[in-house]
Amino acid sequence: MLEIIEPAETPNGPVGSTEWMDVAACAGHSELFFAPFAERPEARVRREAAARVICNGCVGLSSCRDYARTNRELGFWGGESESERAEAGFPPTTPIIGRKRVAEQRARDAMRNAS
Ligand code: SF4
Repeated sequence: MLEIIEPAETPNGPVGSTEWMDVAACAGHSELFFAPFAERPEARVRREAAARVICNGCVGLSSCRDYARTNRELGFWGGESESERAEAGFPPTTPIIGRKRVAEQRARDAMRNAS
């Protein structure tokens, strides 16, 4: 059963250190980490795969992942998509996450079946 961790209180902005941002390997590649408007599920799968490659070589990965989980960030952070953060118990506070998860899984299945 999925355990949902309640969001941190953030009355004055994001919680946690951001020093790891100084060594972020994603600098200059924000188009890979945040979805454009009306992104198709197949395009999301490809974009996030490219983002994951960058994250896997980033020395700030662990801190970045913790920050994104704590602050319920949208986008791809610390080697995790929004769906993966949600599955880990840290869902973004957006009602569309369920629809996106279904669409992403369908896209992965379609791409797997096509190869
Ligand atoms: S882990 Fe990924 S999203 Fe986080 S700073 Fe590094 S490259 Fe950027």
